[in-house]
Amino acid sequence: MTYEVVIIGGGAAGLSAALMLTRARRSVLVVDGAEPRNKPAAHMHNYLSRDGLSPLELLKHGRAEVEGYGGEVVNDTVLGVARTDEGFAVELAGRTVHGKRLLFATGMVDEVPQNLRDRWGRDVFGCPYCHGYEVRDQKLVVLGDEMKVALVRQWSEDVTHVESVDGVEVEDDRLVAVISGSRRVPADALVYFAPVKPRDELLLALGAETGETIAGPFVRTDAKGRTSVPGVYAAGNVTDPTAIVIVAAAQGAQAAGMINMDLLGLVPSAG
Ligand SMILES: Cc1cc2nc3c(=O)[nH]c(=O)nc-3n(C[C@H](O)[C@H](O)[C@H](O)COP(=O)(O)OP(=O)(O)OC[C@H]3O[C@@H](n4cnc5c(N)ncnc54)[C@H](O)[C@@H]3O)c2cc1C
Repeated sequence: MTYEVVIIGGGAAGLSAALMLTRARRSVLVVDGAEPRNKPAAHMHNYLSRDGLSPLELLKHGRAEVEGYGGEVVNDTVLGVARTDEGFAVELAGRTVHGKRLLFATGMVDEVPQNLRDRWGRDVFGCPYCHGYEVRDQKLVVLGDEMKVALVRQWSEDVTHVESVDGVEVEDDRLVAVISGSRRVPADALVYFAPVKPRDELLLALGAETGETIAGPFVRTDAKGRTSVPGVYAAGNVTDPTAIVIVAAAQGAQAAGMINMDLLGLVPSAG
């Protein structure tokens, strides 16, 4: 099966690109592992007109919109990609599909220690813009540098800076304290700026170049999502660690516009 565009990843970036491409009457397959980064959070914030919606609800609507224009969305994992004479062979579990252009919207992973994972996206979080308002004026503990502490003070005066987190105490399914070395710090929430890792193995295997970001090297694109590899695009957290949902969606739309022009032969295929 050959599609004009195969999109790897069906989060905000991938679905937004798919919506624009299907409305441009392109044949599109979205392959999605269905593990969006914000899945642990019950509510999504800062998405104009959808503030407070469940992240999964947003993606459910997005999928329905894409399918309404004839796009295909499948739950599967892309295991490998290879260049062919006409584009790319995309290996899924059990079958191979073909795409003339590829968009990677595979996101990134927060490397949250095991002892914090149960609380992640609830009362342990890394994005104060996403969750800070909900714990405003409460007891906040921050693991991070002075700049991050200063940032978090925007939401509460009651901020304790710690150098390590060795455990947390939970009562009635609520965080009550953070253990840092021999200290027990009462807390309503822990702001933990977890290291992140882009899901970019397949992009790197295709030869995509990286550039330095605040979170280390990420695959480099131009402003329209073109990577250094002709025909290969990227959008959202896989290329930009700072992209919140609405930004990831916008980057997907930008890439979609460029992919369409590229398929028409009107613009160069690489950034
Ligand atoms: C706990 C938490 C809460 C957050 N809350 C907010 C918030 O309130 N507001 C906000 O704006 N931002 C929030 N964010 C940030 C938000 O998660 C990201 O901005 C957003 O997920 C980026 O979208 P994306 O499409 O780039 O990647 P993702 O949403 O992560 O989607 C990537 C998709 O690609 C799939 N995928 C990966 N590899 C493959 C593969 N090989 N084959 C097939 N599929 C694959 C994954 O399964 C996933 O479904 C939060 C982040 C976290 C960690």
